[in-house]
Amino acid sequence: MKIVFISFVILLSGMSGCFEDSVITLEDRGRPGGLVVACLSPSIPKMVLEIDYEEGYRPHQDSIDLLKTRLLQVCDKPEGITFEFSQVDFGKSNSLTADDIREMGSAFREHSPLAVEGELRWHVLFPEGTYQDDSVLGVAVDASTVALFGDSIEEAEPPIFARPSADEIEKAVLVHEIGHLLGLVNLVYQSPVDHEDPEHPGHSNNEDSVMYWAVETIGIAQFISGTLPNEFDQDDLNDLAGISDGTIEVKHQLYQT
Ligand SMILES: [Zn+2]
Repeated sequence: MKIVFISFVILLSGMSGCFEDSVITLEDRGRPGGLVVACLSPSIPKMVLEIDYEEGYRPHQDSIDLLKTRLLQVCDKPEGITFEFSQVDFGKSNSLTADDIREMGSAFREHSPLAVEGELRWHVLFPEGTYQDDSVLGVAVDASTVALFGDSIEEAEPPIFARPSADEIEKAVLVHEIGHLLGLVNLVYQSPVDHEDPEHPGHSNNEDSVMYWAVETIGIAQFISGTLPNEFDQDDLNDLAGISDGTIEVKHQLYQT
């Protein structure tokens, strides 16, 4: 049986491309978690997710519905969360880098995250092709931009009759990457609870959290049993509640209430 590794990555400064350019990019566009306060707070009453996909890579509606549910669980948006879909041609070749994703985000978004009064806008890209490390299913590259790699997600689906399906994997990866935009785990704050995996910074040590660091050999059995996590666990939710009510200090924010 083919063993498939599924991994999630988060990209911070110094990990890709020219360091100085990366620093400038991060300052301009923030880091994952840099808009968590903007999401949690009702002072920006509406949220829009721009979904840009290449032909054949449109996400399933189930994934979008689940993402909306998960976001509404934590983000106070009295005017709601809406999605804007666009089929695009990113014009990039295979083996995408973090800088490629940032460039694609800048080139194809309708508006930057805080440009429209009363709206927070995040951007989800579904390109053809794989990340430079083709075992990576999704990345979060700045405060408002994530990408999912449908070719690798299809590849991660186990043989027939085994679980999870590619659809289930897409759901989990989508919520996971958006979880990074929410600053999970410890990206822009320090949790009072020890639930970050020291071996895999930015990720949960709880395999039942969607923020679990990865799925390796031991996780395959869990996957086959059909229990792929796609929700935030109580520690994740408590961290976000603490940021929201001010009991947890939060850093690197592009927006403050
Ligand atoms: Zn991750």
